[in-house]
Amino acid sequence: MSSTHSTHDAPAQTVALPPELAEINRNVLDDAVLKKLVDPEVYYAFAQCRATGVPMDKGFATALARSVREWAQSKGCIGYSHWFSPVRGPVHGEKLETFVGVDFDADRLIIALTGRDLFQTETDGSSFPNGGLRETHEAAAYIGWDTGSPPFVYRKTLYIPSAFVSWTGEALDQKTPLLRANMAVNEQGLRLLHHLGDAETTEVVCNVGWEQEFFLIDRSMYLARPDLIAAGRTLLGAAPLRGQELSDHYFARLTPRVNRFMAEARETMWRLGISIRCTHNEVAPAQHEISPIFNLANLAADTNILAMDVLRDLAFEHDLAILFHEKPFAGLNGSGKHNNWGLNTDTGANLFVPGETELESRRFVAFTAALLRGVNKHGDLLRCGVSTAGNDHRLGAQEAPPAIITLHLGEHLERHFRNVADGGPFAAYQTQHKEIEITAPVADIRANLEDRNRTAPFPWCGNRFEFRAVGGNQHIAFPLTMVNAAIADSLKAMCDEADAGKDIDRVVRETIGENQGALFSGNGYSDDLYRHAEKWNLTHLKSSPEAYEALTSEKNVTLFVGLGVFNEREIAARQSVLQDAYATEIGIEARALLRILSTMVAPAALEDVEAVRAGFSSSLLDGKRELVARLLERIDALSGAIDGWPEDDLSRAASYAHGTVKPAMRSARDAADRLEALVDARLWPLPDYSELIHHQ
Ligand code: ADP
Ligand code: MG
Repeated sequence: MSSTHSTHDAPAQTVALPPELAEINRNVLDDAVLKKLVDPEVYYAFAQCRATGVPMDKGFATALARSVREWAQSKGCIGYSHWFSPVRGPVHGEKLETFVGVDFDADRLIIALTGRDLFQTETDGSSFPNGGLRETHEAAAYIGWDTGSPPFVYRKTLYIPSAFVSWTGEALDQKTPLLRANMAVNEQGLRLLHHLGDAETTEVVCNVGWEQEFFLIDRSMYLARPDLIAAGRTLLGAAPLRGQELSDHYFARLTPRVNRFMAEARETMWRLGISIRCTHNEVAPAQHEISPIFNLANLAADTNILAMDVLRDLAFEHDLAILFHEKPFAGLNGSGKHNNWGLNTDTGANLFVPGETELESRRFVAFTAALLRGVNKHGDLLRCGVSTAGNDHRLGAQEAPPAIITLHLGEHLERHFRNVADGGPFAAYQTQHKEIEITAPVADIRANLEDRNRTAPFPWCGNRFEFRAVGGNQHIAFPLTMVNAAIADSLKAMCDEADAGKDIDRVVRETIGENQGALFSGNGYSDDLYRHAEKWNLTHLKSSPEAYEALTSEKNVTLFVGLGVFNEREIAARQSVLQDAYATEIGIEARALLRILSTMVAPAALEDVEAVRAGFSSSLLDGKRELVARLLERIDALSGAIDGWPEDDLSRAASYAHGTVKPAMRSARDAADRLEALVDARLWPLPDYSELIHHQ
């Protein structure tokens, strides 16, 4: 090759980094920074505390707190806050405390952060959703630093990621159950590895890479829509003249404003140690996605919440509003949050890579068999994990996997699994690729053997599984807790059989055979899946309230208690919180819709109809009159549905919201949406879908 390149073209060491890249990790107090900040013995004591949960010696904790405070001060912080996740969707809790203290001997202010301040704080647990675990008169709750998740500085405050429990030690947050489920996976995973002959591994960890979808709309449009403000989604709105039909938004260029927004968001997240790798436009106009590189599940859940905060804050500054709701606009794609989920070991193995050696193959099949059993036996829990009022709009609606949870392995791998179940060799499937020839000068492409499946709720992706059913506005810790509890239970069941003397390979073969009903590699958007589910008797919980009921079934209470993920009171409390949140959310929506229809839409439609002088006759005018009459009737019906709300029982309230209120909202909306297409546009009181999605 003739070379016009001299070595001067790429002197890597001397090229200045773009400022955005130079700032990576600047605001995160990760281990690398900590090690430099504190003496080795302090770091060692901290690492011990992290590994065992036993508090640090006071002297070391004081030294650690001083270094942490000084680091934070160097970044402009005047105080700190523990950062925790109440059970209320992706909105963390914080309480700013300053570094100001008092030296009572000298009677003057000092600057201080004690070891105890760093590790824990106390607050009132009764005002957060707690499902009855705390009452107003016995309210104490504790917040404790999750030392596995690094502190960070955001907006000149030092944040300390934390767990949040009641005075009785019961979980009031999203993090604690996830940490416990991770423990269960580790413990049971190690047991299985030992049965497979692996004596070296000492830790099995769960990794997650999330993909966050969202909409960005102009802030003034947002403020003109009371439904977006109250409910995060449009409760009415006729289809836009141009929606996503041409697929011309997907992976298209970002508008200049969104481009500036994304660049700033990425930079801010990089500074916080969030590894944003990919940003792109999604299917619907005004819809976007960002994703980082995977991380330990607990950290992934924290960084997702932090990323959502950053996006919210910056949207405001760019005069945009961000919508994380799963279905902001009827008829346009909604927003999910795929959770790429996998298991790895401290010896560097990825347990969901088919591998090459006999051990690797057996290990891959065994862990996948455990997941298969988890999906088959605990499909109800996985469904529960993605059950929210918002996500019910997506599941099974031709844009997201249905509410039937199956495992998709791909054609070749599924055949291999069936073969193993029948006694075939474990090592017959190795990581395989195929070449795709395009044409010179494009080099041949190395492709995965298995195709990509976007209709499956839980497909295999070559080295991990992708839980695609999670909603865009969920706190991912809860669905991840469900997945990890489901697989931990299966690992446990398999190991129990092996402990009782059954050959482990036989256990694996039988597990696949017994749970093959949950294997489905077809089109999840087609009726085939429903037929398949019926044939194999798979759980199909169509709505969230139905799913919540399953949380406290005997099977599930035994599972949670047995694995130490929730105790009996905690799971009952969780169920109440979910039911309450569901009914409350739909209650807010229903009342918002009623108000908008009564005070904005009906008056505009009536004015329009009344303005039409008698004497004209046309189908347009007749249509309007008829629709106005229909709208008024349906407003009454909606109002009646709201009045009939059962106040006494959470389970009944959630079912009522689903079965009675939602249909009344749908039919009232339908009349309004039809009118929107006919009524004098100058009178229509709300920005329409076109203005909302095309004004970026
Ligand atoms: P897609 O093309 O499906 O939209 P993305 O590239 O947006 O995928 O996201 C894929 C995600 O999967 C990334 O967060 C990536 O880091 C994550 N991922 C890759 N390998 C693993 C793994 N072994 N375990 C967990 N997550 C993984
Ligand atoms: Mg993606």
